[in-house]
Amino acid sequence: MRTVYLNGAYLPETEAKVSVFDRGFLMADGVYEVTSVLGGKLIDFPGHAKRLARSLSELNMRAPDAMGDLLEIHREMVTRNNLTDGLIYLQVTRGNPGDRDFHYPPAGTAPTLVLFTQSKPGFAHAPLAQRGARVISVLDLRWGRRDIKTVQLLYPSMAKMMAQAAGVDDAWMIQDGHVTEGTSNNAYIVKDGRIITRALSHDILHGITRAAVLRFADEAQMRIEERSFTLDEALNADEAFFTSASAFVMPVVEIDGTALRGGTPGPVATRLREVYIEESLKSAI
Ligand code: PMP
Repeated sequence: MRTVYLNGAYLPETEAKVSVFDRGFLMADGVYEVTSVLGGKLIDFPGHAKRLARSLSELNMRAPDAMGDLLEIHREMVTRNNLTDGLIYLQVTRGNPGDRDFHYPPAGTAPTLVLFTQSKPGFAHAPLAQRGARVISVLDLRWGRRDIKTVQLLYPSMAKMMAQAAGVDDAWMIQDGHVTEGTSNNAYIVKDGRIITRALSHDILHGITRAAVLRFADEAQMRIEERSFTLDEALNADEAFFTSASAFVMPVVEIDGTALRGGTPGPVATRLREVYIEESLKSAI
C-alpha cells in the first residue's frame, strides 16, 4: 500500500481523506505538479516548484505552509514508497471552507496539500518511444488560462478518450487552425532542420520539459523557432514529437492517419530524447 502525504501527515492511502466541501472537489479550484523520479532521484524539481508557486500566485491561492519543505517532502515520499522510477503527483487546493460558495473562502482557510506516488519501473525505456506515438487532432475547447496548471482536466480527459476511441495514443488540440499542445504535453514539429514549437502565452502550459529540451537543443546548436504552426504544417513536417515530465521526449509518427517519415521516429526526436534523459539524470536531486 502506498504512503500518501496529506496536510503534514504521511498516511496509508486508504486513510488519507479530504472533505466533500474541499474547493478542489466542488470547483476544480486546485493546481498540481507532476515530477518524474528516475533511479530514486527527482528530475527538474526546481522547475516544478517554481511553476507551482506561479500557478498559486496567478489564482491568488494561499500557498501551503509546507511550501518551503517541498523538496524534503518529495524525498520522503520517494523513500517511504521505495520509489525507483515513476512519478510524484502534488496537488494544492483552496481548501475546505465548510460549505459550497462561489466566493473564495475566508482568508484563514488552510489550503489542502496532497502528494502521492505512481511507480513506473523502467518507464524511461517505454516501448512507445521506440515505436512512436500516433495522434489525432481535436478542437481545443479548454479555457483561456492554460498556462496555469489547474486540476480542471475534463476536456483533456475527453480528448484522451477521443484518441482512445480512434485507436491512437494521444490528441493534439487545434485552435484557429493551429496546434496548441497535446492533451498533457507540449507539441513540436521539425521542418528543414528547424524545431518549431508554439511560443509561451496563456494558450499553453509552460512545460518544464519544454524549457529543458529547448535549452539542450540550443546548446547543441539546433535551430529553434518558437511560433505557432498549423495542422497542415504538422502533416507535412519531417518529424513531430511531444514533451512532458512523464513522457520525456516522445516521437510522433502519425497525425490524423497521415504517417510522418513512413511511420518511424525521426532522428531529431530520438536524439533529443537521449540528450534530455542523459542531462536530466545528471542534474537530478
Ligand atoms: N501541456 C499540458 C496541457 C500538460 O498537461 C503538460 C503536462 N503537465 C505539459 C504540457 C507538459 O508539461 P511538463 O513538461 O512540465 O510536464
